[in-house]
Amino acid sequence: AAMSQELLSLKAQLKEKDEEIAALKQRLARLEKNHNSTQEPYDKVTPLSPLKTKRELSNEDIMRYSRQLLLPQLAVQGQLNLSQTSVLIVGCGGLGCPLALYLAAAGVGRLGLLDYDEVELNNLHRQVLHGEENQGQSKALSAAHAVRRLNSTVECVPYHLQLSPQNALQLIQQFDIVADCSDNVPTRYLVNDTCVLSRKPLVSASALRMEGQLTVYNYRGGPCYRCLYPVPPPPETVTNCSDGGVLGVVPGIMGCFQALEVLKIASGQGSSCSQQLLMFDAQDAKFRSIRLRPRKADCAVCGDEPSVTQLVDYEAFCGSAASDKCRRLNLLSRDQRITVQEYESILNHAEPHLLLDVRPLVEVDICHLPFSLNIPLSCLEERKPEEVQLLKKKINQLKLGRSGDFQPKVFVICKLGNDSQKAVQVLEKMSGSELASVAVKDICGGLMAWATTIDPTFPQY
Ligand SMILES: [Zn+2]
Repeated sequence: AAMSQELLSLKAQLKEKDEEIAALKQRLARLEKNHNSTQEPYDKVTPLSPLKTKRELSNEDIMRYSRQLLLPQLAVQGQLNLSQTSVLIVGCGGLGCPLALYLAAAGVGRLGLLDYDEVELNNLHRQVLHGEENQGQSKALSAAHAVRRLNSTVECVPYHLQLSPQNALQLIQQFDIVADCSDNVPTRYLVNDTCVLSRKPLVSASALRMEGQLTVYNYRGGPCYRCLYPVPPPPETVTNCSDGGVLGVVPGIMGCFQALEVLKIASGQGSSCSQQLLMFDAQDAKFRSIRLRPRKADCAVCGDEPSVTQLVDYEAFCGSAASDKCRRLNLLSRDQRITVQEYESILNHAEPHLLLDVRPLVEVDICHLPFSLNIPLSCLEERKPEEVQLLKKKINQLKLGRSGDFQPKVFVICKLGNDSQKAVQVLEKMSGSELASVAVKDICGGLMAWATTIDPTFPQY
């Protein structure tokens, strides 16, 4: 009897262990599947297999999407349409993050997630699907992870690459709808022209400071981006989020709006933003909508006799780089500029000079060099009397006790070395007339170059 008791107990223990092993194997398989499928983003464009046709919703689908299936505007057919649609998101930043999440949550079939950049701490206030632990990781990959956590039935294709005239057609041709979430002008023209050439609707949004815009280009007889903006703006007039700042929730709202219009197109309801520009003013909490003209017959790319029939060099066309990171103006010659190393040596030799910081006050409040004089570029450009007086006074102090033809040195600094060049041009016009004659140069790379190469304790923003 004791023998059979022991036998039964051992059998029971074995069964328990077997079940434990089976559960562990299942967990391992799940983890491995997730791990393998998200290990590496694509660094080039490759052909994608066609989306699987879905004829009916599974019980799990019905459960997951039940709250939106109840809407007569969507219903079962709309949900099936979503599952048959692929969407390319160009830029996984402030607009792309909420957009990717809502498209995945709603059940689009395939999401292309494109970004050339890595996650940085200063992204997280607006790019809310990335986390602190994703710093340094590819944004495309980080976005794919977040999307998969939310809805693993959505096929994700992360692209860690820069969209270019060489890869754009091959990539965009493989998707049904394109969402432009980029924040530079060359990419906007590139995405637009590629969408026109491959006949894809383009849901486009932008956000800066406290304002946002949204429209749908190249859709149902509506205009394309070039119809509205045939000529790119001069690069020195373009402001992006790293220059102008943005409240994180503003691109959040615009990205959600993009998701709405993409979902309406993908489900078959159609977007009503085709000839409409939606403008959001976050300060006054107001939306305005401007009626746009239809497609222009003489548009260079979507017109009746287009002159642009293939992709061109958009950086050359716009005179600026297709990334927001290294936007560098070159308004001055080399002898009108000094490097941060040269400026450090001027400080070390205690050479008399005036350091003029031309950033707006709000940036000076974040950080500044203690011995600098702050006069914002806008005040110089407008020749504000109070500021001009102050500048005159400081320059005259430098001239004290020197001969009449002595030219005091003025060095101009800003955040990145773009505004400082404009300020040098303004000061050169004033030199010898509105002001005493000065020798004025700007400091290349500005305070951010100072922080990275000279003083690592100086804050970066
Ligand atoms: Zn056009």
